[in-house]
Amino acid sequence: MRTFVHTSHPARVVFGSGTVGRLAEEVGRLGGSRVLLLSSPPLAEASARVRDALGGLVAAEFDGAAMHTPLEVTERALALLRETGADCLVSVGGGSTTGLSKALALRTDLPQVVVPTTYAGSEVTPVLGETHEGRKVTRSSAAILPETVVYDVDFTLSLPLAMSVTSGVNAMAHAVEALYSPDADQVTDRQALDAISRIARALPRLAADPADREARGGLLQAAWLAGTCLATVGMGLHHKLCHTLGGSFGLPHAGTHTVVLPHAMAYNAPAAPDAMRRIARALGVPDAPGGVYDLVASLGGPTSLRDLGMPESGLPRAVELAVATPYPNPRELTAEGVAGLLADAWHGRRPQ
Ligand code: NAD
Repeated sequence: MRTFVHTSHPARVVFGSGTVGRLAEEVGRLGGSRVLLLSSPPLAEASARVRDALGGLVAAEFDGAAMHTPLEVTERALALLRETGADCLVSVGGGSTTGLSKALALRTDLPQVVVPTTYAGSEVTPVLGETHEGRKVTRSSAAILPETVVYDVDFTLSLPLAMSVTSGVNAMAHAVEALYSPDADQVTDRQALDAISRIARALPRLAADPADREARGGLLQAAWLAGTCLATVGMGLHHKLCHTLGGSFGLPHAGTHTVVLPHAMAYNAPAAPDAMRRIARALGVPDAPGGVYDLVASLGGPTSLRDLGMPESGLPRAVELAVATPYPNPRELTAEGVAGLLADAWHGRRPQ
């Protein structure tokens, strides 16, 4: 018999196409009447649609969200929030904009409604990573978790194919590590496997037609499921490595997940054979790490850290950081093993 403790994080999820039309009602459910609308410049059109849907509820707008939630950006948004007396946060964007909303909620306890436009999954987690003076610090609290998520597949249609591929693999990484997490249970297992098979089916369809709404819908559901896994169980080596590479070497978040995932899986495979078998079945391939690598390569996604701009001279430091503090992982972490993994990822070799 399996022993487990399952903690779910309460959030209201509205999912579909055209669900932006439900935003005003969702803000009202949370008691909001003066919204601070958060976005970033590439999402100006999406933000205009949200503004139209909210009508007179918008008290102010801030479109300066940036990757890794820099403290100085949060402070500028916080000043605007206080000046305008906003009582609810609505954000539209990827993990970066969601991060800004979470940072403001942490400081004000205001309710949040998030409209995700990528597949990062941050919208359903109580976790926030903030950067200050080059250091990224992660914390978790109930105040960080958004109250309501409005998934509107229409808002993902503009996400370029390359970004859709890396963001989809970012979601897959949450599901993969959930399957071999020491906290896993039958609920997270099912969510994770469903997410993986949806991603594996949807990405090739998107490559053929980036406007395929059914495929986009499948990916967005996978993002929700995989994000829920990320919120519920602890992650392992893969997430630790990507956090280190993103935070200390400035590598792009989703692209780094895409390159590292097959290699982290190959490293852990001997210690997690059952998880690998189930992942391979969900992907429809004989071998899970090689299958993920082949999927990414077939979609034209990044396969080497070198191509993401990682200097080869930085690899020893990345190894040092990755093994500095112990954390749960199916296979014991050794400096030599992680160095081999990172060398393979840097060169872009297919895992054997
Ligand atoms: P992002 O939010 O930085 O978006 C990447 C780029 O794509 C941005 O320029 C953005 O404006 C643009 N973009 C987003 N959606 C678009 C769309 N539909 N159409 C056109 N352009 C669009 O990238 P991300 O990968 O979603 O998020 C990365 C950030 O999220 C990182 O800071 C990461 O640490 C954080 N994150 C946090 C968690 C968590 O649980 N705390 C989980 C996953 C990611």
